[in-house]
Amino acid sequence: MDVSLTRDWVQNTASAMSRNQEHLTTLDSAIGDGDHGANMARGFGAVRAVIDDASRPAASVDEILVAAGKTLVSVVGGASGPLFGSAFRALGEALDADAEIDTPRFAAGLAAALDKLQQLGAAVPGDKTMVDAYAPAVAAFRDAAHSGADFRTAAHAAADAAEAGMRATVPMQARKGRASYLGLRSIGHQDPGATSTAYVFRALAEATEA
Ligand code: ADP
Ligand code: MG
Ligand code: MG
Repeated sequence: MDVSLTRDWVQNTASAMSRNQEHLTTLDSAIGDGDHGANMARGFGAVRAVIDDASRPAASVDEILVAAGKTLVSVVGGASGPLFGSAFRALGEALDADAEIDTPRFAAGLAAALDKLQQLGAAVPGDKTMVDAYAPAVAAFRDAAHSGADFRTAAHAAADAAEAGMRATVPMQARKGRASYLGLRSIGHQDPGATSTAYVFRALAEATEA
């Protein structure tokens, strides 16, 4: 993990959110208030602008991720902004600026990000939230790292696990966030936040191919 990969990750994520904005809007219209596509496109668009800002000095991986997190928290009004933003920030803060960010170290950073997400949102796996994609992605990355896989392989395992977790939200009943107000009627719809989480991890895997 280096600055160039981190920038590509952010760029790819911003592109995916803008490309899939309508899909996220449709998903959030079914079980929420229909703003998740706009929230993610605006949030990651702002993150891209901050990171591309030529007047800023070249940042380290941890600085980029902390800046991305702060921007998401300040720009996105919905539940997803503080949750995603704090997770990115926690990831950045877990990575030491001076140390080489190898695969096990990044795995530990992702675990810190998931901890923060769950501390703030109090969601557990099965509640039909972004945690249902985030948690399996973090576990898959960690398992790959512990078995000696390189960063690229671990990132692909995480993306695959996030997508499986995203699909697994369809039959769940929502127990957190706006979708929980629907009770049983939330069943049969894919969670928007789990979907955008899958885009974040796929964007990381794709960044390793650049
Ligand atoms: P809002 O619901 O405030 O309009 P968004 O539409 O941007 O915010 O985001 C909705 C997504 O946020 C949901 O699909 C879900 O994945 C996630 N979410 C909501 N509440 C929580 C929570 N307490 N913990 C984790 N994720 C949550
Ligand atoms: Mg919404
Ligand atoms: Mg909203």
